Amino acid sequence: MELWYTEKQTDSFGITAKIKQTYVTEKTDFQDLAMIETEEFGNMLVLDGMVMTTEKDEFVYHEMVAHPALFTHPNPKRVLVVGGGDGGVIREIMKHPKVEQAVLVDIDGKVIEYSKKYLPSIAGELDNPRVSVQVGDGYMHIHDNKNAYDVIMVDSTEPVGPAVELFSRGFYQGIYEALKEDGIFVAQTDNPWFKADLIQNVNRDVKEIFPIVRVYCANIPTYPSGLWTFTMGSKKHDPLQVEEAQIPEINTKYYSPRLHKAAFVLPKFVEDLVK
Ligand code: SAM
Repeated sequence: MELWYTEKQTDSFGITAKIKQTYVTEKTDFQDLAMIETEEFGNMLVLDGMVMTTEKDEFVYHEMVAHPALFTHPNPKRVLVVGGGDGGVIREIMKHPKVEQAVLVDIDGKVIEYSKKYLPSIAGELDNPRVSVQVGDGYMHIHDNKNAYDVIMVDSTEPVGPAVELFSRGFYQGIYEALKEDGIFVAQTDNPWFKADLIQNVNRDVKEIFPIVRVYCANIPTYPSGLWTFTMGSKKHDPLQVEEAQIPEINTKYYSPRLHKAAFVLPKFVEDLVK
């Protein structure tokens, strides 16, 4: 008997993955959590019915959340990750020796626990001495830590459940105040095929708060539509002013010094969304 996991990406469209085995299905204090092994993408973390990360394609998202901002900021000593309990963004941040401390704040300790157990290739740096892992609400953390971070990365779930507040104007204002005077923030901002309004709303809010706002894309096969966007807000440093020659080669499989600026060249229908 075959078993398949289907994610409904809209009410009338989805993706489906053949399952080899189910490790965990649990209702945590915050969300429905599943950890499954799939034929095509290896181990897969699912939260509230949505693919969060898979062993096979996770590198795209985690590299593209972390490296554009960390190579744009000249001296990123203190970095915050909101969400990101699977540890993938933290693993990428650890590739930057300038980073003295990375703080991860995820509301759900079960995500951290099960990621360490079933996604070791992703969660492996959560025990790095440069990393401080905290279980808590990212919205509260932002408002309790003013002028504290050089770079803030929002690696949250979609705007549902505990993450709804992480897409609000008040949250972006809080991020601005939690950043130092030349700080940079980046958030995953979903896909232009099914969530165009979210991208537009976030872009509008961030433009009211930050002087420099840039949007870039990456291809993530297990995310809705496969075309993913990231929105960067910066107080001073522009990612488009970073020349390829200034970016050292690092151990990556998607991001590269050549791709840094190219990622900000948007398909026309996405460009029109954020004009
Ligand atoms: N890459 C995934 C995506 O784009 O959907 C996100 C992966 S990561 C597992 C998402 C994390 O955000 C989850 O572990 C969830 O617990 C966390 N999260 C949701 N709301 C949060 C909040 N208010 N504060 C901190 N973490 C939150």
